[in-house]
Amino acid sequence: MKYISTRKQEETNIKIAILKGLADDGGLFMPEYIPQLEADFFENLPNLSLQEIGFRVAKEFLGESISDDNLKEIIDEVLNFEIPAVKISDNIYSLELFHGPTMAFKDVGARFMARMMAYFSEGKPMKVIAATSGDTGSAVASGFFNVPGIEVYILYPKGKVSPLQEKQLTTWGGNIKALEIDGTFDDCQALAKQILSDEELNQKFTLTSANSINIARLIPQSFYYFWAFAQLQKLRKPIVFSVPSGNFGNLTAGLFAKKMGLPIHQFIASTNANDVVPKFLETGNYESKPSKQTISNAMDVGNPSNFERMKSLFNDDVSEFKIEIESYSFSDEETKQTMIKVKNEFDYTLDPHGAVAYLGLETLRQAQSDKKNESFIGVLLETAHPAKFVEVVEEVLKEKIEIPEKLEAFNKKEKQSVEFSADFEVVKQFLMEEK
Ligand SMILES: *Cc1c(COP(=O)(O)O)cnc(C)c1O
Repeated sequence: MKYISTRKQEETNIKIAILKGLADDGGLFMPEYIPQLEADFFENLPNLSLQEIGFRVAKEFLGESISDDNLKEIIDEVLNFEIPAVKISDNIYSLELFHGPTMAFKDVGARFMARMMAYFSEGKPMKVIAATSGDTGSAVASGFFNVPGIEVYILYPKGKVSPLQEKQLTTWGGNIKALEIDGTFDDCQALAKQILSDEELNQKFTLTSANSINIARLIPQSFYYFWAFAQLQKLRKPIVFSVPSGNFGNLTAGLFAKKMGLPIHQFIASTNANDVVPKFLETGNYESKPSKQTISNAMDVGNPSNFERMKSLFNDDVSEFKIEIESYSFSDEETKQTMIKVKNEFDYTLDPHGAVAYLGLETLRQAQSDKKNESFIGVLLETAHPAKFVEVVEEVLKEKIEIPEKLEAFNKKEKQSVEFSADFEVVKQFLMEEK
């Protein structure tokens, strides 16, 4: 399988696509075509384990670039935690993607990417650059921690991540360095792009990116759409996924799953006040905007990086987009009310991102008029454990929530970061002095 840049100027194989992250023409790598899975795979789906599904799906994208044994080993290491579809109410399930080491869904993609990069780099020294709005950085750090030859630089916006998220970014030490940028997530993302395309830095180091722009992040994120079906197919109703979206990597992976043959009825792209995509679907015009700060901060993205991939999947045609995806934007106030409502009515604690996704399902039901209230199973992707956003969740629900031991361990460690203004030259200088 060839991998082709969304800007069409570069064509390569999966190994190079993963090691480079971003194509030289500034585009994002996409498989030449989306592979199809055979009918017997779908018939057998309810009998497969998450790991078996992961292997079958990954194999389609990776082909002969890795042996079956090596790939199985990597998949088993990456997916060593549960992803249960938990019932909230009769027709709403929460696909809990947060049982990994940093307790956010980004563990799935970041751990797979880290293992694949380590495998393909064959021990040669490499610098990984990751811009994060909160959760990516820690998942990437956890995936790469102590991998020989790999140094990780995490750029995060000062004061715009939660205290616990900050601890999860800055307390690793060893081969993980946290760069605290006085700016927004968009500034961090722009800096990362500049670093990765800088000639001098590229002469001195082997650089790669670890954002949702890396194709190795997307491939494993498609696994759990299949896994949700394996768990919920027996209900014999159409399945709708509501995806709380920021950079749209999670949703793009869902589109991959559907194109591979998974009969997903509908996607909902649920966003907070950062509503570039809902606006695009409404007006047909894509206009990036500066990001706005919200309580679902991992989705505070004003120029979603995977939009380019979605565009290429839909051949640049808004009407094709509209067939697959409904998209709604919600305010912080609506998000809070939903957290309270779901807690009171169903005794389920949503984090702010999951609450945005819940709102998407409710809105679709209303749009389809309440007569059809039971016409589909709504699956919201619960992308973070509520304790990752403990300040917001406790303030909204007016009660203490339990902090899992995994997270408490980060809190006890000391923050280590280097501070920068959002100025490329200064950051570049720092990197040039690195070994
Ligand atoms: C990153 C993140 C999102 C958004 O995912 P995208 O793939 O960027 O759309 C949603 N929720 C949480 C908790 C996240 O960390």
